[in-house]
Amino acid sequence: MSMEQLIELQGIDTKLKDLNDLLGDLPSKVQGLNEQEDSIKSSLVENKKRLKELEVELHKKEIDISQIDGKVNTLKDQLFLVTNNKQYDALMKEVDHQKDKKSVFENESIDLLEEKEQLVGSVESMESELKDLSEDLSKRREKLESAISESADEKSILEKERQKRIDKIDLNIVSVYDRVMGARDGLAVVHVEGTGCGGCGAHIPPQTVTEVRAETRIHRCDICSRFLYNQEKVVN
Ligand SMILES: [Zn+2]
Repeated sequence: MSMEQLIELQGIDTKLKDLNDLLGDLPSKVQGLNEQEDSIKSSLVENKKRLKELEVELHKKEIDISQIDGKVNTLKDQLFLVTNNKQYDALMKEVDHQKDKKSVFENESIDLLEEKEQLVGSVESMESELKDLSEDLSKRREKLESAISESADEKSILEKERQKRIDKIDLNIVSVYDRVMGARDGLAVVHVEGTGCGGCGAHIPPQTVTEVRAETRIHRCDICSRFLYNQEKVVN
């Protein structure tokens, strides 16, 4: 075999790698955005649920407070009917007690109102965040889907081409090629640049350079193990 098949194989594998790299980023981005969207959606559900609870609690506090007001009014009316100090003191004590209860309820109402205010604010900002995110996400999903379908055709063509080359290359060479591909970030076939390896830059002995040019046999770089070819032999 000549180096030609290996050079072509490398070209195909580089294109396949580019295709995968292109997709490689997009799916994980879309997935990340999906997760973000889900988490905002579930926080929104939680917050809205809590808001409803707060409304109920606040309403209950209002009723409690107005009941106390009613009691205090009744107690005050009774003050006019008392006949001795003891009765008066007892009534006043009860009035104070009711007033204390009222102020506890009022403080609780204030806390609930503050919580409600904060929640309303965060629900608003979450809703606008979600809107932006969903827009971004739908664009990226579209892009991903079209990229996948576009690249699917290209990928299957490239894979068929790849198989054609593989069939022509000695199995031992293919297995070395695969190993070097894995170890050298998808680049297993490089040209000789002057007297250096086009992959790692290591010096190539003049004798080897001459042999690479003459294509007497297959050579690999001693340092990075990549297959070497003569620069003039560029195949597209
Ligand atoms: Zn090298």
